[in-house]
Amino acid sequence: MAKKIPTRLYLAEDEIPQYWYNIRADMREKPDPLLHPGTLQPASAADLEGVFCKEPVKQELDAATPLIKIPEGLREFYQAYRPAPLIRAYFLEKALGTPAEIYYKHEGVNTSGSHKLNSAAAQAFYAKAEGIEALTTETGAGQWGSAMAMACAFYGIHLTVYMVKVSSGQKPYRKALIETYGAELIPSPSNTTQAGRALLAQNPDTGGSLGCAISEAVEKAVSGAGCRYVLGSVLNHVLLHQSIIGQETKAAFDKYGVKPDIIIGCAGGGSNLGGLLAPFIADKLKGASRTRFIAVEPASCPSFTRGRYAYDFGDTAKTTPLIRMYTLGSAFMPSASHAGGLRYHGMNPTLSKLYHDGFLEARTAAQTEVFDAAVRFAKIEGILPAPESAHAVKAAIDEALECKRSNEKKTILFGLTGTGYFDMTAYMAYNAKTMTDYIPTDEDLAKGFASLPDIPQNRGMN
Ligand SMILES: *Cc1c(COP(=O)(O)O)cnc(C)c1O
Repeated sequence: MAKKIPTRLYLAEDEIPQYWYNIRADMREKPDPLLHPGTLQPASAADLEGVFCKEPVKQELDAATPLIKIPEGLREFYQAYRPAPLIRAYFLEKALGTPAEIYYKHEGVNTSGSHKLNSAAAQAFYAKAEGIEALTTETGAGQWGSAMAMACAFYGIHLTVYMVKVSSGQKPYRKALIETYGAELIPSPSNTTQAGRALLAQNPDTGGSLGCAISEAVEKAVSGAGCRYVLGSVLNHVLLHQSIIGQETKAAFDKYGVKPDIIIGCAGGGSNLGGLLAPFIADKLKGASRTRFIAVEPASCPSFTRGRYAYDFGDTAKTTPLIRMYTLGSAFMPSASHAGGLRYHGMNPTLSKLYHDGFLEARTAAQTEVFDAAVRFAKIEGILPAPESAHAVKAAIDEALECKRSNEKKTILFGLTGTGYFDMTAYMAYNAKTMTDYIPTDEDLAKGFASLPDIPQNRGMN
């Protein structure tokens, strides 16, 4: 008889994976390279090292090495909050009356409250090892800023965080948390950079965007010696660090003989989803698995489902290398939704390629239906999800109900990326029934697409 699956599928400390997994190594068709925006030639390590630390740059450009060792000094920090719980959602299954098995990987069990600490710690670790004294970054909803502040406090590095203005107003406790860990916080757009001043001159009332905050943080990093920039999503090295999520999940599933049929993640820039699905999609790339992979994005910021697969900048001021990805255009300004971590115009280039080639599905969910799912989940499983994570909860519930209709016993895995303790303003709006669903019109999207760079690689797409 098969072993009964416990509610928590435990891993011991020494079972925490030793390696990250780099999906690109097993892709027959690789994602297109980053391009230098001036020469339109593939970006070199030298191009990127002025902005980022060296080891992350090496990882960014490495499309060949499948397993990359997690450094020992970092693994020790991981052990302080990992393995993250992998939970069988017995209560949810029962409440839905579904024959499906539902599992979730809970990345919210550290003070910063999300999976972002996995890459924040890695990037702070490498900065320290390379003798970098200060880092800059941006934060949307505040999770990345909190994670970087924690990681920089641990490794002893000065941090400046540009926080999207609308979020810093909505989330005063995030701001306080970041400052408590010793980081300097500046609402963006600000008058501390050229990029910020330019945007304020055009639109003094703007609530800002991740793209704009990135421009400010990059500008600040390149203007200071011994200072580098760190990014919390989108790029391939971030996705690599997040593969710890999938590596752990697979290790625990292998112990209990569980094989997922459907893997679901919310998608902002793609790092948690890419990290969760990484070791599982390896088999699919070899044609040895029928597992489905589903990205869930907000209807207010539909990069996969309504975006173009084109070369685009990562930021509003058009300073980053060009990335071929599903994008709404760097000038796209998403409406002020409560899932701040999903308000980004582009998607990770590896996931974009997998989506383009049919290995990954995508769907959208509107804000109020996402919160319906969040509150339902909180009451049944006990955990209050972050608004971003609730997108995955919604899709998991939908898939489980589909199994009920078709009477199929599928195994569903989703990423619960974080907890919602700092998102109570959003829950208050939901409870007061003042929450709205703004879905961009085709005209709104056209404005974003008009900002795509007019380069030969993009002709025929613009
Ligand atoms: C940032 C964030 C996301 C989205 O980012 P990805 O890079 O797409 O993973 C999702 N959930 C939470 C809780 C976040 O903080």
